[in-house]
Amino acid sequence: MALGEFELIARYFQRQAAPVHPAVALGIGDDCALLQTPPGAQLAISSDMLVEGQHFFPDVDPEALGHKALAVNLSDLAACGAQPLAFTLALALPDSNVTREAWIKAFTHGLFALADAQGCTLMGGDTTRGPLNICITVFGAVPTAQGRSQALLRSGAKAGDDIWVSGTLGDARLALLVLKAQRGERSPSAQRWLQLPPEVLKLARARLERPSPRVALGLALRGIASACMDLSDGLVGDLQHILEASGCGARLLAPVLSELLATHRLNGTVLTPPERLSLALSGGDDYELLFTAPSTQRAAVMAAAVSADTPVTRIGQIEAQEGLRVVDAQGQRLAGRFASFDHFA
Ligand code: ADP
Ligand code: MG
Repeated sequence: MALGEFELIARYFQRQAAPVHPAVALGIGDDCALLQTPPGAQLAISSDMLVEGQHFFPDVDPEALGHKALAVNLSDLAACGAQPLAFTLALALPDSNVTREAWIKAFTHGLFALADAQGCTLMGGDTTRGPLNICITVFGAVPTAQGRSQALLRSGAKAGDDIWVSGTLGDARLALLVLKAQRGERSPSAQRWLQLPPEVLKLARARLERPSPRVALGLALRGIASACMDLSDGLVGDLQHILEASGCGARLLAPVLSELLATHRLNGTVLTPPERLSLALSGGDDYELLFTAPSTQRAAVMAAAVSADTPVTRIGQIEAQEGLRVVDAQGQRLAGRFASFDHFA
């Protein structure tokens, strides 16, 4: 039996016994929700939309989708060093999903597990019928000090700063390549991806479908990082945003990057160094933090990583000369145009 819109909201979104962030003065049920900005803080706000076919396969596990829909939004708060407070959820559901309550149940399960773990309250939203589409807006708090925002921005990198990245890079892209090959999408390397061991695919898929927003690390990097952003489109493209906003260039260390895949640490990983480098550079969907910090802050960065229980790796340096250079262990620029690494684009 199909659930009505209000029944659906009451049953699955308006939770009775769930923890509510103290900043949420009024939650679901009225025309507006009310959010109290914590004293001395600014609101950090970000929206991300997930569209079937564009951001996920139609048959994706709904529990993982609920997790990811919120995770990609929390990742934006993390990138700014904002503390999550609350979020709204605008949801278009096809008839088939409204009738299949099991789908909604699993979706909200994944969504609320992450929301509760991060202390972030669902405070409102909208529910309509339509092609599956999930739009979340997150609200976070960033303190000000002497009237100055403590938010981490893309624009503060300076020549000489170290470039750092959290966690692992490239695995989500690898999973996507395998899944596309499995679905019969033709590509020059499709045969190769189909031969990867199942444990490699399993780990890569977890990175694609269940990214961990680096909220604790973003908070710990306030006052330490000179620039920060989260990686959603791939390292090369995303780093350009910091370089443009900060008016500088960068060099990246190829030998470090080619070790950054989580799957590289598994026995039986058979990717070549150029394949690994390419995945790390041009990947996407990593939802790691990419940040810069003066080299005098190395110990502080490591301490922040320990306090946030999130590994970080130094992958290069900001330079005054504009552009991006990828260098080998001897500091020699890799041959060929940079874009030539981007086999999989
Ligand atoms: P309105 O008609 O005033 O826009 P709705 O009837 O759409 O309100 O929604 C009723 C209440 O349920 C509102 O408080 C709204 O924020 C909330 N709501 C609707 N859909 C969702 C959802 N998917 N998640 C959370 N809250 C929702
Ligand atoms: Mg209304």
